[in-house]
Amino acid sequence: MSPRSVVVVGAGMAGLSTAWFLQEAGVEVTVVDRRGVAAGASWGNAGWLSPALTVPLPEPAALKLGLRTLLSPASPLYIPPRPDPRLARFLLAFTRNCTHQRWQVGMAALAALNRRALSAYDDLARGGVTEPTRSGEACLLAFTSAAGRAPLVAELDAVRAAGQEVDYDLLTGAEARAWEPALSSRVDAAVRLHGQRHLDPGAFVTALADAVRDRGGKIVTGLEITRVRDLGTGVVALAPDGTSVRADAAVLAPGAWLGRLASPFGVRVRVQSGRGYSFSLPPEGLPTRPTYFAERRVVCTPLGDRVRVAGMMEFTAPDRPADPRRIEAVVNAVRDLLPSADLTRRTDAWAGPRPCTADGLPLVGPTRSPRVHVCGGHGMWGIALGPLSGKLLAESIVTGRRAAELTALHPLR
Ligand SMILES: Cc1cc2nc3c(=O)[nH]c(=O)nc-3n(C[C@H](O)[C@H](O)[C@H](O)COP(=O)(O)OP(=O)(O)OC[C@H]3O[C@@H](n4cnc5c(N)ncnc54)[C@H](O)[C@@H]3O)c2cc1C
Repeated sequence: MSPRSVVVVGAGMAGLSTAWFLQEAGVEVTVVDRRGVAAGASWGNAGWLSPALTVPLPEPAALKLGLRTLLSPASPLYIPPRPDPRLARFLLAFTRNCTHQRWQVGMAALAALNRRALSAYDDLARGGVTEPTRSGEACLLAFTSAAGRAPLVAELDAVRAAGQEVDYDLLTGAEARAWEPALSSRVDAAVRLHGQRHLDPGAFVTALADAVRDRGGKIVTGLEITRVRDLGTGVVALAPDGTSVRADAAVLAPGAWLGRLASPFGVRVRVQSGRGYSFSLPPEGLPTRPTYFAERRVVCTPLGDRVRVAGMMEFTAPDRPADPRRIEAVVNAVRDLLPSADLTRRTDAWAGPRPCTADGLPLVGPTRSPRVHVCGGHGMWGIALGPLSGKLLAESIVTGRRAAELTALHPLR
């Protein structure tokens, strides 16, 4: 039976998108967040909506990078050296997925989503979400050598072979600098990637929350749900102080905090926090278009009066205090590439947990309970894919029919 009311746990991109698309079908929604709107990974991320780059995180190159740089706080991938059996199990499973064959299987599943990802943003815009996505200008992928560029070009070709449209051209260092004068002479090769978009993620998720409220949805902040119970005829989401929210069904979208809420419903796939860091700078001396320094794993995203600089993947618990050395590592990674930028004028220093799965695929769909559903595990790409996941999940909750795109994302896999 189609539910008339749904409680959504988590007011990030995944939870709010699901809530908004449930409202499209006339469902009453209550979204609960332990802190506030966009309090997790959905605020300070890089905001790229780039289907051409939305690929599974586990790949042979990730494994090589991991082994080379495992315990160095300055490296773009960092695993704090402390005993953690669950993290060890996640890393083992992740390692097993770092093969070409598994990558291709994962890519096929993501390609089916990527082809429709931007159209879900168009649905939100048509339905009144006021914050725009920015398109038009191509984005720039900059490298210190043609050899450094080769793996990414091969990856773009593999994405194309998986059935996605990928439109790019190759630039020399001089051509890249003529197009983007902020780059130093260290940049010796580049890719101009067409057809992608970007957005200000915090502003977008706030506008999405406003749209959910305007359509009659409730957003309850400052309430941590520690347990969801299936009552047989409905569900109840419970907080430790005795507060409860009842509804016909529940959607669990608490980002990197999914495990505790979802495991009682048979979800065994671990969601591991892969924490990233970002900060903002005034635009002077920084790229004027979305720019990715792929060898250094640092992204620059122009957001009007500032440019967000983001990077790092730190496999650690989502609530551990942020480590200022990671911000320094991001700064040091771009220092020689952006010589005119004043990297001391940083504001908005931020850390947020990417909800990563070992196979690089999201978890979107039902659980062992017919009344409890999951939307999460989007890892590096929850902004690009969140709206489409929310749309497909809402449709399947309301109609009982699962879209083919969700088959590989089953939370009980
Ligand atoms: C540095 C960085 C750069 C990134 N760049 C990009 C990018 O360019 N493009 C892209 O597509 N993706 C990017 N990502 C990934 C993206 O940010 C995430 O995949 C996405 O935000 C996840 O959204 P979510 O809604 O699943 O989780 P979150 O945004 O983390 O939301 C989960 C919410 O649930 C709440 N919550 C948790 N537990 C409970 C509970 N028990 N009770 C109530 N509430 C709870 C939290 O407070 C939080 O607000 C980046 C991430 C980082 C860190």
